[in-house]
Amino acid sequence: MKAYDGMYIDGAWRPAAGPDVIEVVNPADEQVIATVPAGTVEDVDAAVRAARAARLAALRDVLQARREEIAETVTAELGSPLKLSQTVHAGVPVAVAGSYAELAAAHAFEERIGNSTVLSEPVGVVGAITPWNYPLHQIVAKTAPALAAGCTIVVKPAEDTPLVARLFAEAVHEAGIPAGVFNLVTGLGPVAGQALAEHPGVDLVSFTGSTAVGRRIGAIAAGAVKKVALELGGKSANVILPGADLARAVNVGVANVMSNSGQTCSAWTRMLVHRDQYDEAVGLAAGAAAKYGDRIGPLVNAGQRDRVRGYIEKGVAEGARLVAGGLDTPHDRGYHVSPTVLADVTPDMTVAQEEIFGPVLCVLRYEDEEDALRIANGTVYGLAGAVWAGDEEQAVAFARRLETGQVDINGGRFNPLAPFGGYKQSGVGRELGVHGLTEYLQTKSLQF
Ligand code: NAP
Ligand code: MG
Repeated sequence: MKAYDGMYIDGAWRPAAGPDVIEVVNPADEQVIATVPAGTVEDVDAAVRAARAARLAALRDVLQARREEIAETVTAELGSPLKLSQTVHAGVPVAVAGSYAELAAAHAFEERIGNSTVLSEPVGVVGAITPWNYPLHQIVAKTAPALAAGCTIVVKPAEDTPLVARLFAEAVHEAGIPAGVFNLVTGLGPVAGQALAEHPGVDLVSFTGSTAVGRRIGAIAAGAVKKVALELGGKSANVILPGADLARAVNVGVANVMSNSGQTCSAWTRMLVHRDQYDEAVGLAAGAAAKYGDRIGPLVNAGQRDRVRGYIEKGVAEGARLVAGGLDTPHDRGYHVSPTVLADVTPDMTVAQEEIFGPVLCVLRYEDEEDALRIANGTVYGLAGAVWAGDEEQAVAFARRLETGQVDINGGRFNPLAPFGGYKQSGVGRELGVHGLTEYLQTKSLQF
């Protein structure tokens, strides 16, 4: 008689949760030849979690293995410098896929509330529509939690960046995700995107892009009473309070805006400086922007370039002072816009209200903290922001009053587990981490 121990879970024989066993009887002589553990709800749960996580871990590993190819592809179709493509465009998706491999294993998909058991179940079929500015990240930030939740997904990527989306589909295939779980349809927004949002077989529409299109997607979803998540534009404020390290706050702020050629929805495109430090800050910002010179890539296409140039012209026409960059570029090919700083921007100007989506920083002057708060909160957007102060408490107190989804305190680092999403017209719902996972779950309560 052999007493076997353990369950084969996550690549190893693990002790069973309970003491009970199953006897294995030889029917020829009725002898008990062995026992195996009798699995409980906990054993099944651990095994299912491992099975879920494994798919995502495999996907993470393929993304890691193909990092260089991903970086080169993003550089080729988006135009970002190779180093940025390697660290951010290829690197962040590995971290996000990995975070969901862990969350799939650790998340409590069942909880007890009084006399009820509350089950978290997959929403169903997800229709995902993504933009071009962080083309792989935006696909992974929807696909990984969808898979962790047990959903299936159809992705329509941006027309400008379909190649990295195709590469991702290959990675999904290579990772052994079952047929039909992930699907990719390249196509144009008003045709393929709209068809996906309108499809009655889609249970949740998850969209990232402009507020204008997001509003339409939201209306379509509301008409069909289906769930919708909208990750939209921003016009975030970088608030530099008088006690802050001014040079650091300005330099980090400029880098934040110029990165990815300004094509970042959460960029701090409005820098708010106290009037006593204003001239010094403008000088520092102009210097920092000039230093970028050629190190930023082009914009994604001619339309975006023209749009951004139009905003620079409009800013100057409305009274802003050009202190760096402008319409000239040393390039004779490519959709380049020089790193640009507009000073003397006032809150009512178009460039202070609308999303420019290019390497253009607006520097605004405030009188006191209340004025800074009014200016910071004075747009329809509320996606991100930053606060710099002499001490952390003062920065946090100010951040609490900001109408925005995330705030970096004195240069806080990006956290791929922290919820990402907007207040006001910057969106509905949250991505990343456990908050991102719950977007893909719906609850069922069982009463006992
Ligand atoms: P967009 O038009 O909102 O595109 C985002 C996604 O939606 C793309 O896949 C797009 O397809 C699709 N789409 C477009 N029209 C659609 C429709 N009627 N129904 C369903 N899907 C539709 O954004 P964009 O044209 O790429 O950029 C325009 C502006 O949006 C930028 O200047 C910037 O201000 C903002 N933007 C914001 C973000 C962000 O992360 N918040 C990202 C990108 C852009 P196509 O690619 O075929 O158009
Ligand atoms: Mg478009």
